[in-house]
Formats: sequence, structure tokens, C-alpha cells
Amino acid sequence: MPNEVDGSSQAGRFAPSPSGDLHLGNLRTALLAWLFARSTGRRFLLRVEDLDRVRPGAEERQLADLAALGLDWDDDVVRQSERLPLYDAAIARLQRAGRTYECFCTRREILRAASAPHAPAGAYPGTCRDLTPAQREERRASGRPPALRLRSGIDSFTVEDVLHGSYTGTVDDLVLRRGDGIPAYNLAVVVDDAAQGIDQVVRGDDLLSSAPRQAYLAGSLGLPAPTYAHVPLALNAAGRRLAKRDGAVTLADQAALGRTPQDVLDLLARSLGLADEGESVSLSQLLDRWEPLQIPLTPWIAGI
Ligand code: GLU
Repeated sequence: MPNEVDGSSQAGRFAPSPSGDLHLGNLRTALLAWLFARSTGRRFLLRVEDLDRVRPGAEERQLADLAALGLDWDDDVVRQSERLPLYDAAIARLQRAGRTYECFCTRREILRAASAPHAPAGAYPGTCRDLTPAQREERRASGRPPALRLRSGIDSFTVEDVLHGSYTGTVDDLVLRRGDGIPAYNLAVVVDDAAQGIDQVVRGDDLLSSAPRQAYLAGSLGLPAPTYAHVPLALNAAGRRLAKRDGAVTLADQAALGRTPQDVLDLLARSLGLADEGESVSLSQLLDRWEPLQIPLTPWIAGI
């Protein structure tokens, strides 16, 4: 079956990075993305974001864990590492339109410049935007391979989020291709979502602040931006983002305690207000009960 769909089909997706096993918070986000997609008759696609931080075996375990919860998906799983020509084509398009420039800054230089008074938080200050050809040559000669940035031309952009309403966030001259030649996350996500016909992006709300950059970049490439639903993260008892060291956070950890995937599905359903204590639920029951605007908007403190 082909991976690409024509743009008129509607689809949601889950796009994990195979940097380790999925924890309960990731599994909850996957369940939410599945519920958002399936409850609206959308196709549901999986994309493995493996341009960075790949741990051997993680992809297989992630897919097996999603399947163990009963989640199903359409088409073949897509891997970003197999789609480099698509990203190259998008970057070439922006280059031809004069919308890119080379950036020679080190991480430290960016941090120093970005901490200057009045610099928007987390934004690239534009150090390399207006280098003269001579300055550019000089920096190239230093041997550091440059990153490629978008000449964005704006400071901020507004997206609509189903759960957060109108959200305005910083858009700086974001990196399109890193100095090591790897396409940047923001570029790959935008290109893939459009190429796969994904019009509904459901993911953790740690990425809400990236949505304005991505929606603006989509527009710059002449691509439609999806609708967004950024869902609350899972936190540990100390209020920090759930992590491996927080105990029995993966399906395998839970299995070692004698808890089945069904037990975990029930736990996730309870955390979403979709099941009662002691109740065992199926995915089709969850679909019947699903009301997207009623999910808790506060982080889930995973009491594990
Ligand atoms: N691969 C990203 C992550 O695992 C998610 C990207 C996205 O959903 O846009 O955090």
C-alpha cells in the first residue's frame, strides 16, 4: 500500500522518536491521538521520527506497545530517515525563493546573544542574517559547516488549537538543516504532515510553542497547516515531566508488576475521565464515551 495519500484524505497521526521505550505519558498521548482521529472518521498514521537519537530496538518495542494497547493504524509505518529527498526538495524550494541563509553561530554564541535585553525568549537573534558576502566567505573558511536557516520575516504567528484556543508564539529564523546536514525537526514535521495528508496534529503540549513556527513554515512552503490539539503531559509526583527513573513507567515495567496492557489502558482511560475505578474498558467503549473538549487540561500526575 502506498505511504502517501492524496491531500483530500483526512488523517491524524502519532509520531514518536525512537529514542527509548514509550512511557505512560507517551502512551496516553498516542491513545488521545487515536481517539481524536478515529472519532472523526480520520485515518490514523504512525511516523517514526528517527533523524536523531535512535536507540536500537526502540522502534519495534514502541510499535509493539501501541499494538498491545489495541491501537491500530493505517498504511505502512513511515520513517523519516527514508524520506530525505522530500526534505531536500522543500529546502531547495525555500532556497530558490531566497528565503534561507547560512548560519555559522555556535550554540554558545546563540545563547549569549539571545540572553541580551529585549531578545524574545528562545529566539535566534539573527546574527548571521545580514552577513556580507565577504563575511560569509570568511566564516566558511573557518571550516565549521553552517546550518541553514529560514529568513522568516516575522516575529510571531498565531495558530488555533482545539484545546488552547488562539495561541500566539515566537517565530524566529528557525533552522531548516543542521550543520551536520540533518534536516531539522521543524522542517521534517511540516513536510511529512503535509505529504501524508495529515490535517489533525494531536501531541504533547510541550510542543505547543513550536506550532506557530511550524504553521508559518507550512505557509512559506505553500502547504496547508493542520488543526492542532496539544494535550497535557504526564508528570511525576514532584511535578516534573515523567521519565524512566520515575519507576514502572513503561508497559514492560508494568508487566513486571503483573499489570497487563488492559490494566494500563484502564489506567489511561481513568486518567482521562473515561472510565471508573475498577472498570475495564475497550477502545470501542472509549470511542463511544469520547468528548474531546472534556479531557482534563491539567497535567496528569501518574501515580505509579
Ligand atoms: N517526535 C516528537 C516527539 O516524540 C513528536 C513530534 C510531533 O508530534 O510533532 O516528541
